[in-house]
Amino acid sequence: MSKNNRKITSARLLSEYEDLFRCPICSNPVEVVNLRSLICSNGHCYDISRQGYVNLLSHPPKTKYDEKLFESRRMLNQSGFFDPLIAQICENMLDELNPAGKFIKILDAGCGEGSHLSNIQQRIIQQSQYKLLGIGVDISKEGIHMASRSPSTTLWCVADLAKCPFTDKPFNVILNILSPSNYSEFHRMLEDDGMVIKVIPGSKYLQELRRMFYNQTDRTMYTNENTLELFKRNFALVDIKPVQYGVTMENKYIEQLVHMTPLSWGASEELIQQVLGQDRLEITFDFSVLLGKKMKAHT
Ligand SMILES: [Zn+2]
Repeated sequence: MSKNNRKITSARLLSEYEDLFRCPICSNPVEVVNLRSLICSNGHCYDISRQGYVNLLSHPPKTKYDEKLFESRRMLNQSGFFDPLIAQICENMLDELNPAGKFIKILDAGCGEGSHLSNIQQRIIQQSQYKLLGIGVDISKEGIHMASRSPSTTLWCVADLAKCPFTDKPFNVILNILSPSNYSEFHRMLEDDGMVIKVIPGSKYLQELRRMFYNQTDRTMYTNENTLELFKRNFALVDIKPVQYGVTMENKYIEQLVHMTPLSWGASEELIQQVLGQDRLEITFDFSVLLGKKMKAHT
């Protein structure tokens, strides 16, 4: 698909679902004008890019995520290493969704370069009769730019999670995978019987790398207890599923893994080179998949 076609296809899709959006500055309704921009009733204007995503940030953020990091993530995310995790997320979702076969709207909050959301959508469509719309949001323009490169029927937006450009309660599912949360916004946007699926790393996640980088320091140990507690203060925890498995990573993937993980940021160059020199590594993937619903007080 040429870039121009992609822009028009996305603008049409955005126009079909413009009711889900609101202006992140003044909260007024927005509409797609001339298949080019999303404009609110106060005149705040957000352009649709040539790739078809819409940038709803008024100021670019300062992040340390660059394009190279998203390329590393994309390569790993599309390599199949996360398949058992994606399968578990879809299973949880299908177990909880109302089987009446309605139209499901999924928001991936902090979608990065978008592979997880695309893989989840594909799997849900293969395994069920649901019609669905996926919307991926990330504060990083580099991530969203990369996400919108693949042909898909997903809407991709650059936006701040603290000021999400969506109306109240349009979403049946909010995904939040290995990414920071904004629980008050999640509450605002989630329909009353909707679900939040949050993935957090388990204590053994990448433990081999931790050992190599931080041998004999307290950074070897990782606990997700605080993250779990915070989740439970905001949503009723309906289910928590551990997903743990080992993968053998060839050298080309080790390099991507080291690039994408903040673990390496504090390690010495010598240690990093030592890890990058390995032919292959056995790496533990360990996650908890949390499924939460609104507590009665919040509905
Ligand atoms: Zn506005």
